[in-house]
Amino acid sequence: MAVGIVGAGIQGCALALELASRGMEVHLFDREFQPLQRASLWNEGKIHLGYIFAKDKSLASARQMVLGARIFFDFFERHLAQVIPQSAYSDNFLYAVHRDSMLTSEEVEAHLRSVDEIIREVPGSYCGETRLRPVRRAETLRGLNPELAQAVFETPERSVNVHYLADLIARAVFSNPLITFVGGTSVESISRAGTGFKIQTSDGSSLGDYTQVANCSWESRLVIDSTLGYCECRRWMHRYKLALHLEGAQGGSDIRSTTLVLAPLGDIVNFGAGRFYLSWYPHCKIAESFDLVPAEPKLDHQQLQSIANNSLEALSKIVPALREVAIDWGKSQVRGGHIFAWGGVDIHDGDSGLHNRFDIGVNSDDGYHSIDTGKYGMAARFALEAADRISGLSAEKGCYVSPIK
Ligand SMILES: Cc1cc2nc3c(=O)[nH]c(=O)nc-3n(C[C@H](O)[C@H](O)[C@H](O)COP(=O)(O)OP(=O)(O)OC[C@H]3O[C@@H](n4cnc5c(N)ncnc54)[C@H](O)[C@@H]3O)c2cc1C
Repeated sequence: MAVGIVGAGIQGCALALELASRGMEVHLFDREFQPLQRASLWNEGKIHLGYIFAKDKSLASARQMVLGARIFFDFFERHLAQVIPQSAYSDNFLYAVHRDSMLTSEEVEAHLRSVDEIIREVPGSYCGETRLRPVRRAETLRGLNPELAQAVFETPERSVNVHYLADLIARAVFSNPLITFVGGTSVESISRAGTGFKIQTSDGSSLGDYTQVANCSWESRLVIDSTLGYCECRRWMHRYKLALHLEGAQGGSDIRSTTLVLAPLGDIVNFGAGRFYLSWYPHCKIAESFDLVPAEPKLDHQQLQSIANNSLEALSKIVPALREVAIDWGKSQVRGGHIFAWGGVDIHDGDSGLHNRFDIGVNSDDGYHSIDTGKYGMAARFALEAADRISGLSAEKGCYVSPIK
């Protein structure tokens, strides 16, 4: 009997590959016809080290991110049987403190340095390196508009080209004889049947028996959990965020990957060879929902172009060199995805739960595992944790409340 996994994003694929490497048969369901078509394809690819979570004074979010990031690359390189080349990474990020930041540049600096200490304590690799340079305060504003940026820090954080990685992961999934990808299949509910599980799909089929099931469906996670009777009493928020994924852009090769902190938030990622990721939160966050399952935003070409133009305008005010970049709109796309997080108020509120990301991970109960990935860079860690529970290596039986604090 196989293990059923719902959702073939980075989390579901990572778990499928890990279980298969332990000799277990897996059926991997997704409503898309190919793996990794949703949030795991249209995100920024930053493998967070926790610098962004400067409002989390407990440092729990940073610790969580570092633990995930330090094993991410080894995990995928093992499963993909190849080294991820340096050309797949962005340059290292500048953290620029915006004039309207919620925290002073001194507070941001203190947080960045605390994160450095955590990084030093946790061994592992990161983008091909084991020793990471500590944060340095830059002496100049590095091409940022001094009217809008008050301080700039060099960090070792980087992004990975998620399109490149998605392609490799999908190939590894398809070529693994122990993994059956069941694409174009929308899962509606899961039920216990005897000692195992059945999976009900939207066309009325009931598939099974599965010995154990993992729910890695991200924006559908809560609604699928609820079909088994697991309900959350915490507040949560689904947001839908877009970004400009530029390809074939001319110019701007010197523009540094930059994260603007701390709310208003924006990111510029330079992957080289004319590939950029650009997102300005106030324009790119286009929807929020407190429902069990969020609606899928539908925007026409004109609306997407207007969001792109407004975001470019906002980011160009901060990084004026962006105005010199010639964009090939034929090759570029404005795409995005859902973001799930605990908390009921948006990021502009300093007390928002969106400023932390420690309460994520594997929730298990008697063979059912529901994984809140939290961040892209956590997928390897949670795949290993879930695989230990599924294969019986971990004595941790778990409970529905996240055991990770
Ligand atoms: C614009 C944007 C930028 C981001 N930037 C970063 C970043 O820089 N760093 C970072 O760490 N994180 C980032 N994130 C968050 C990151 O993308 C997610 O945390 C991560 O991709 C979630 O992975 P996942 O596999 O859980 O979800 P997904 O990749 O969404 O995979 C879930 C899969 O489940 C499938 N599915 C859903 N419902 C059903 C159903 N009912 N039946 C069958 N299949 C179903 C979907 O089709 C999908 O393939 C960003 C997100 C967005 C949207």
